[in-house]
Amino acid sequence: MIPSCGLLSSVEAGDFSLIREGVRALCQNFPGSYWQALDRTNGYPTDFVQALTQAGYLAALIPEQYGGSGLSLREAGVILEEISKSGGHPGACHAQMYVMGTLLRHGSGDQKKTYLPPIARGELRLQAFAVTEPDAGSDTTRITTTAVRAGNTYRINGRKIWISRVEHSDLMILLARTSKRDEAHRTQGLSVFLIDLRTASGNGLTVNPIRTMMNHHTTELLFEDLEIPASALIGEEGNGFRYILDGMNAERILIAAECIGDARFFIARATQYATDRKVFGQPIGKNQGVQFPIARSFSETEAASLMVEKAANLFDQNIPCGSEANMAKLLAADASWKAADMCIQIYGGAGFAEEYDIERKFRETRLYQVAPLSTNLILSHLAVHELGLPKSF
Ligand SMILES: Cc1cc2nc3c(=O)[nH]c(=O)nc-3n(C[C@H](O)[C@H](O)[C@H](O)COP(=O)(O)OP(=O)(O)OC[C@H]3O[C@@H](n4cnc5c(N)ncnc54)[C@H](O)[C@@H]3O)c2cc1C
Repeated sequence: MIPSCGLLSSVEAGDFSLIREGVRALCQNFPGSYWQALDRTNGYPTDFVQALTQAGYLAALIPEQYGGSGLSLREAGVILEEISKSGGHPGACHAQMYVMGTLLRHGSGDQKKTYLPPIARGELRLQAFAVTEPDAGSDTTRITTTAVRAGNTYRINGRKIWISRVEHSDLMILLARTSKRDEAHRTQGLSVFLIDLRTASGNGLTVNPIRTMMNHHTTELLFEDLEIPASALIGEEGNGFRYILDGMNAERILIAAECIGDARFFIARATQYATDRKVFGQPIGKNQGVQFPIARSFSETEAASLMVEKAANLFDQNIPCGSEANMAKLLAADASWKAADMCIQIYGGAGFAEEYDIERKFRETRLYQVAPLSTNLILSHLAVHELGLPKSF
């Protein structure tokens, strides 16, 4: 199990070295060849997820009273960063960390007691978060999946797209409309539900896998009169948008931490390759044309990492951090994507070969320019909310 918060606080001023060392040691059992084999077959890293769960890492954000480790978001980010840095792919399970925040902050006492302990023990997985719809896209308030109350149940109808890990999760957080969209109160009328996928799949919920350029286990979901108990509602009906916004800040900060790990992976690999690879009788890294892009990536990553740290620290103190979470995700995703491009260039032809893991990580980190919120939408948030520029949509 991961060391408790008390133990961690003694190293907190440093760089969370106990967590880093623990995750690194675990990841050594899952080398590049493990991820390459899964990538070839679109396989799910079940062994890796089990190992992470057993070590307590996926329950990092569950409070100790429910059997988790009660760590901070900052510490959870360090776990994901280390997985990425080791060459692994935390996208297979990262949602388990941020999705449960919605349940934790807004769920009833009964819901928390029922679900959080088995999640912490690894008996249940909660790693699916269903928001995006084909016709709404980034404009979340335009979702049209409905949940209609009928006595002690809700009936769900609609369609979601790009919903990841549904086939590898027992539970899913769903955002659905419980009353008509009102232009004056666009964020009202949306509600959050905890769906038990074990009973829903095949009984009103159809899950269609979508193959993507990386191994991400994403799916389309069709809801056709799926009946769920009214007790599946999280918090108050109609306030769901506010609940998921909290979760989205956590998601952005954790994914930003993952991007920092990706960037550090590319920088370390590029540096090593530039040292080892000899062309024209000398290491390619002796050429400044090779050194400078690595040095630039290094400085961009260190700067982005400071913003991730700032956003996580604000989140942990319950201080509003919407813009910081967005900036962390923007800067970290840019740093990792630029580092990926730099690294593949420095590897030359070898960068395209499966065996070096560069092309796989290049594909994996590209996602974060688009999901969970695209770069343009982040820039637009900052322009309007931080700079006071006019809203364009
Ligand atoms: C592999 C993968 C996994 C995912 N997993 C999940 C998941 O588990 N759960 C979930 O709910 N969603 C998930 N998503 C969805 C993801 O969050 C969305 O793809 C993302 O938010 C962008 O939405 P969209 O694809 O509908 O793009 P659109 O909204 O159609 O946008 C397309 C492009 O237009 C740009 N654009 C749109 N409007 C504007 C504007 N006003 N100004 C400037 N530019 C604009 C966007 O920036 C984007 O580049 C996943 C997506 C992928 C690809």
